Amino acid sequence: MGYTHYYPQQRDFAPHEWAELTAITRWLLANLPPHSTSAGGCFSEYPLAIRGWDGEGEPEINGRVISFNGDGDLAHETFCLARRGYGFQFCKTARKPYDLIVCAVLLAAMEIAPGTLDVSSDGEIRGEGWQPARDFLRTVPPPQKDKPMLTNVTYNRSERRYEVDCDGRLLTFSPGVDGRQAAFRAGVEAQNPALYELAAKMVIDNPAIASRVWRACQIVLEGGVNLNVSGTAVATVASQSSAYGDYVLQASDGLIACDCEDFAGGTAVYTEGSEQPYCKHILAFQFALCTTPELA
Ligand SMILES: [Zn+2]
Repeated sequence: MGYTHYYPQQRDFAPHEWAELTAITRWLLANLPPHSTSAGGCFSEYPLAIRGWDGEGEPEINGRVISFNGDGDLAHETFCLARRGYGFQFCKTARKPYDLIVCAVLLAAMEIAPGTLDVSSDGEIRGEGWQPARDFLRTVPPPQKDKPMLTNVTYNRSERRYEVDCDGRLLTFSPGVDGRQAAFRAGVEAQNPALYELAAKMVIDNPAIASRVWRACQIVLEGGVNLNVSGTAVATVASQSSAYGDYVLQASDGLIACDCEDFAGGTAVYTEGSEQPYCKHILAFQFALCTTPELA
């Protein structure tokens, strides 16, 4: 019954590593399977639930620590990992259901921050006991900050890089914000060179609207601009956070107005020498007009 995992810590987690690890841990806990087959599946008949350090309350996941246990009688030793920690650490799960999450978090830590933990286990890390955790971890989507993304851009979790499919040619970009932005732009260029040229020029001329410009590109590439509208509207533009439905663009006095919060709240951005405030929807509308062949 003394089934134990060992994870002596060699260094602190860097802030971005810890941010990614806690995000993944939260996702795992929010998407728990009903049962665990980890560590040989000895408790696969029992429900899988994750509680606080003593088997009660809520797990602790914050900028300092990740700490949890199984539920009630299905708790065993507390799993605890600190962002800043050194020395010998271990967790005896006795194969109880929460073993699945202990293994998954350790695997994620090894992947995100190589060399930080020196993980060993009474089960084979590459063997069947850890396989359910490996499978579960594989279902985790890229970190929230990596969304939204284009269809031809993917984050390769095992290689830790962005990959852009350019007509069968694979371009790769480093993880992190800079790599993400570069991958996104390459993805736009691969999908629609004319749109990319238009956007890149606009960003050079008006750096203040860069983020709106690239989001507008995504809307266009996702087919979010509908020019086929009636009445006084000139277009409808799909909301990127689907909860809000479509925005309606109207023309008045030679300018375009949008009913989104950015525009209505007066935070839309002006470009040099123009009276037109730009939210991403109005940019998407103009890009769609310029890059849709049948309208040109
Ligand atoms: Zn808008």
